[in-house]
Amino acid sequence: MTYPTNWNLARYFYSGLDDAKLASDIAQILPRTIAFAEKYEKTFASFIDSEQILEFYTDYTTLSHEMATPSYYLFYRSSLDTQDLDVTKKMGEVDYIHTEASNRLLFVAQGWKFIGYDRIMTRANDPKLAKYKNDLISTANSIKYILSEREEYVLNMKSRPLGLANSLHDEITGSYEFMMNIDGEEKKLTEEEVRSYRQHTDRSIRMESYKSLRRVYNSKQNQITLGNIYASIVKDWTSEIRMRGYNNNVIAQRNISEEMDDEVVNLLLSEIQKAYPIYARFLKAKAKMLTLESDFAVFDTSAPLGKSDKDFTFEETYALHLSVMQDFDTDFYEYSKRMIEEERIDVFPRAGKRGGAFASYRKGEESFVLLNFTGKLRDVSTISHELGHAIHGHLSQVQEAPVYDSPLSMAETASIFSEMLLGEKVKSIVSTEEYKDYLNERLGDIFATIFRQVQYVVFEKQVHEAIHAGQELSYKDLNKLWRAEQDKLYGGVVQYDVPAEDESGWSMIPHIFHTPFYCYAYAFGNILTFALYNQVKS
Ligand SMILES: [Zn+2]
Repeated sequence: MTYPTNWNLARYFYSGLDDAKLASDIAQILPRTIAFAEKYEKTFASFIDSEQILEFYTDYTTLSHEMATPSYYLFYRSSLDTQDLDVTKKMGEVDYIHTEASNRLLFVAQGWKFIGYDRIMTRANDPKLAKYKNDLISTANSIKYILSEREEYVLNMKSRPLGLANSLHDEITGSYEFMMNIDGEEKKLTEEEVRSYRQHTDRSIRMESYKSLRRVYNSKQNQITLGNIYASIVKDWTSEIRMRGYNNNVIAQRNISEEMDDEVVNLLLSEIQKAYPIYARFLKAKAKMLTLESDFAVFDTSAPLGKSDKDFTFEETYALHLSVMQDFDTDFYEYSKRMIEEERIDVFPRAGKRGGAFASYRKGEESFVLLNFTGKLRDVSTISHELGHAIHGHLSQVQEAPVYDSPLSMAETASIFSEMLLGEKVKSIVSTEEYKDYLNERLGDIFATIFRQVQYVVFEKQVHEAIHAGQELSYKDLNKLWRAEQDKLYGGVVQYDVPAEDESGWSMIPHIFHTPFYCYAYAFGNILTFALYNQVKS
């Protein structure tokens, strides 16, 4: 069985950047927004009738959906080629129109603010608005942080250059070239390819892979750029914390968007930090199995255990995923099959393609998955993970748009659940040696998605708090803070190959640039999913 392995965006969106439909969809954004604003801006604040609110929701949802379609297309295009300047330019143009449009929609937040907490909560409990209940509750909870219309307008205009800082991290790291010595030959590789060598059985190759990444990220020039991008993002975030009155709690804004209580998040962070020694124990055991007890290095932390370095073809990997889904649930199976057959999975790494893997979905549209498949056992888990997201997006279609997206803390539930389903199947199809490897990887992943993510957030919190308190942090300060937190996590088991000052690991984590404090959602999602999986089992 051979599958199509590229996205067919023309099938779902536009034939290309020069498609007249794309131009007209973009051109329609502002006029449609203005028509919507004219219909509601004078009256919305006086709406107390459920019928009126229902009609408003319907119109608003339609408008938001139409407005977003060109952006989705351009985002997918830029994910396939982050270096495509025509796409980047078009994104900038659409972004400008969106800023203009959202300025026209500022009256909505002001209207909710005027309607007030009590009256919104009354509507939230009205059966006629049951489909929107959760959106009404979160609106009620968030209105106290909304500033005046004029202030919101200024912030909105100021947010454009910040968007640039966000994409600058992607663009600039996407343009990096990595040289790596493999079998005596200097090869030019993508970041994704270099990263995959960190899991190589040959220690010297793992070391080379680390060195290759570091040569690029640790260069003074890149550190200055990435350090400044990061500091400007943090400064913007912390200014907003002050302006909107989040009580000096730098993580509050994320907790509200996540619908998480501060206490729950604090508990999550502190409990995992207390559990760090478990990770150190795992690394110690691993060092022993690899007979590297005396000099277990940072480039050994992701080492495989087995002697086999089995490569999987995409076809066999996908077949495995399908068989796991088939055993679990018909919907899961059918949708996984459709995802690949209907050309919505982009499989292989290419120069310029965005790194990592993701799934993207929204109300009224099919899910899309991007992979960078390199044929390792790890990639097998990634497929199950991302397809779990895709299925989540598919099954959520019964929800209305304003409540379609789950908060990030719940968004990892289906993905991790799928990975856990895969785990049992793997045992039955691989040799003992391979299974040992797999378990090592699974544990490594669990530590990475619970412990390491918490370590990221603890680092972020320190940086945000320092900057919020008026400190200036250079990239060297960031490096030292990073090393200190990493050290706590490793518990003295790991030896470093670079001094703390050159420890640029933070600069390789897109999430802390894009979505501050996102990473705790992984830890939360994992723990939640373990509990859920145990319930399914019993
Ligand atoms: Zn995920």
